[in-house]
Formats: sequence, structure tokens, C-alpha cells
Amino acid sequence: MDELMDQLIEGHKRFHREAFPERRDHFHLLAEMQSPQYLFITCSDSRIVPDLILQTEPGDIFLSRSIGNVVPVSGNDVDGVTATIEYAVEVLKVKHVILCGHSDCGALKAALTREGLEKLPKASRWLHHVEGAFSHRQPPNPADGEHAELASIIRGNVVAQLVNLRAQPSVARAAAHGHLQVHGWYYDILTGRIEQYDEQQRKFVPLLANQG
Ligand SMILES: [Zn+2]
Repeated sequence: MDELMDQLIEGHKRFHREAFPERRDHFHLLAEMQSPQYLFITCSDSRIVPDLILQTEPGDIFLSRSIGNVVPVSGNDVDGVTATIEYAVEVLKVKHVILCGHSDCGALKAALTREGLEKLPKASRWLHHVEGAFSHRQPPNPADGEHAELASIIRGNVVAQLVNLRAQPSVARAAAHGHLQVHGWYYDILTGRIEQYDEQQRKFVPLLANQG
């Protein structure tokens, strides 16, 4: 058999034997309904695991993922991200939407260098949505070392996608009524730290006050 698939099946065996019984009551409650309070919009990158970095449980977070954590500009076209946002806000009535970019994002790297995109007609069209990252580029942070330029574009992309997110009709309506808050985050894979975009100061600040 395929070793890679065996790994997954072994993992599922452990889940069924250990993790599932520990949470049996919780899953029992979840079996017929969900009422997540958060919509989390992030990149498809395998290193971003919301339930791990936020220590949340099944049922807590409604999730939308795409390369580059994109929110397409609101218009007549339909896509998976904006349909997911509409459902989360109108039906699930989430209280917070968090848009989270991350360090070393391949999507923004590709947008920056344009390398290899000729073989990717769909991805390269999708990545037109990140072009706003360049006009919202953030000042380089010396803590990012040699990755400072890429990191400032990735943070710029968070700001650009926040603009698109706030322009979604469902989000604009719920936010105007005070039912919904929108947040922009940057997650650093190396340090495990999160920064949030402070709209008043127009800059990213540590999410945890004691992280300088
Ligand atoms: Zn990414």
C-alpha cells in the first residue's frame, strides 16, 4: 500500500481510538448543529493550523482558505471565498471575522517575483487579487531580517484584503449595525507570534501586549 496514505489511516485510527472518545460529548452536541462565533480567512498553506495556534476546538471556527488569503473584490462574479463570507455572516451570524496572512507565503512570493506563474493559468489569475498588497506595503520590520521585503508585502496584502472584506455587502451591513468586528492578522511561522493590524495607528502591533 501507499505509505503516505497509510500514515493518514494510522492517524485516523489513533483519532478514533483516543481523541474521539475524549470529546464524545462535544461531538454529540456538534452532530446536529454548529454555532461558530468566528470566521477565519487564511492561506491554504499547510503550516497555518488555526485550531493549533488559537487552541480552539471543532465547532469554534468557520474557515475559508485559499492561496494568498484572498478576498476578491465584491462584484457580480461568484467565488468560494465570498460565498463563504456571506454564509458565515448572514446565516451563522459570526461575531468576528479574522483575516490572517503569514510569513514565507508562497503566493506573495510568486506575486513578487512572477516566477513559475506561466505554468499556472488559474493560480496566476487568482493572484491578481493580491496586487493591492503592493500599494498597501508596510514599512520593513528589522526583526524579519533578510525576509523583510517579502514580509512587508505580506502585511500589505492583509491590509488590502481587509479593504475588500469590509466592502462585502454582508460584512458592511453587519459591521454598520455593530454585530460584527473585522480583524487583520499576520502570523509568523518561525516565532509562532501573531501581529494585528491597528486601523487607528495604521500599523501592525503584537497581538499579545508582552511581546515587544
Ligand atoms: Zn500563504
